Amino acid sequence: MSSSFPPLRDELRGIEPYGAPQLSHEAAPVQLNVNENPYGPSPAAAADIARAVGEAAVSLNRYPDREFVELRGALTAYLNTSGGSGITPDMVWAANGSNEVMLQLLQAFGGPGRVALSFAPTYSMYPEYARDTLTEWVAGHRADDFSLDLDAARELVLERRPSVVLLPSPNNPTGTALPPEAVTMLCEAAASYEPGGIVVVDEAYGEFRRAGTPSALELLGEHRNLVVTRTMSKAFALAGARLGYLAADPAICDAIRVVRLPYHLSAVTQATALAALRHAEELLGRVDDLRVERDATVVWLREQGHEVADSDANFVLFGRFADRHAVWQGLVDRGVLIRETGPDGWLRVSIGTADEMAAFRAALIDTMETHDLTKEPA
Ligand SMILES: *Cc1c(COP(=O)(O)O)cnc(C)c1O
Repeated sequence: MSSSFPPLRDELRGIEPYGAPQLSHEAAPVQLNVNENPYGPSPAAAADIARAVGEAAVSLNRYPDREFVELRGALTAYLNTSGGSGITPDMVWAANGSNEVMLQLLQAFGGPGRVALSFAPTYSMYPEYARDTLTEWVAGHRADDFSLDLDAARELVLERRPSVVLLPSPNNPTGTALPPEAVTMLCEAAASYEPGGIVVVDEAYGEFRRAGTPSALELLGEHRNLVVTRTMSKAFALAGARLGYLAADPAICDAIRVVRLPYHLSAVTQATALAALRHAEELLGRVDDLRVERDATVVWLREQGHEVADSDANFVLFGRFADRHAVWQGLVDRGVLIRETGPDGWLRVSIGTADEMAAFRAALIDTMETHDLTKEPA
């Protein structure tokens, strides 16, 4: 075999696949690293999902409904109770996780000669969608407090004329939500050149936003180029099912149908998501507890003398450590797995149950004392 086997695209050679380290529950009993909801479905919800999947199993010899009409209807109804209004099923699209939804957006609206743009620090998958669709990747920068400098952001959009702008709100890994003025300004900027760009507000953590933080769903009626993505992986406690979705102008949903794979949403996925949506109230029932736990975590970390980014999500970014890897490792050694991500010196902890957060606090205190780890002077 020649040394070039397999004949991979040059720009993919030597690249590590994306993903947080997955440790077993024996190695790390407290897992606070991928922003999952720590509360699984109740026995009643799990039984209903199992029943729905059982019913779907009887006709697995047939392809599923390609247009997932029933699921679209259920997602539409949910969105209209979760920050949206007047959303209709032709404005809703779904795929296997919002990651697939966003990849499809890049397949349809990105491509050679086109630009995808976001503002760092941001979700590390975005540049991968760009790479995989041969779209040029441009990253502007957030301010020191992780907010967006609106004038600079607008300037960059006008200068680079992206066909896709990716704006996570709340942002991962910082937890920062965008004000509606930011969305409006960037939608207008991206509509001001030919052929224009779409603005994707990634609300994977939308349900965790603090009181008074509006959803970009409210702006859908005002901007034809606005896309709001959501997922069932986080607040909805359904990461294992892989279901993400978006709301946007019907013409945008229609365009995605050109690039989606045939029957991309399996009958099992559709049945699972529909059953979960019937239990929405219960699956989302712990979101308020998690928001309280998040706010308490922010306060506690600040009391410990750490720098902490304000968070509208179910995780908290804190630091800054001269050797963040040593802090991360110290926590792992004490059975607590968090995420080494974000700008240098910062760490991200997902919000777990009260017991898990107590274990996190104890492990962090112990790690800092044992190793005499220094906080970096601000
Ligand atoms: C977790 C996450 C998602 C959701 O991913 P799924 O594919 O829906 O599981 C999307 N965007 C951001 C910023 C995330 O952190």
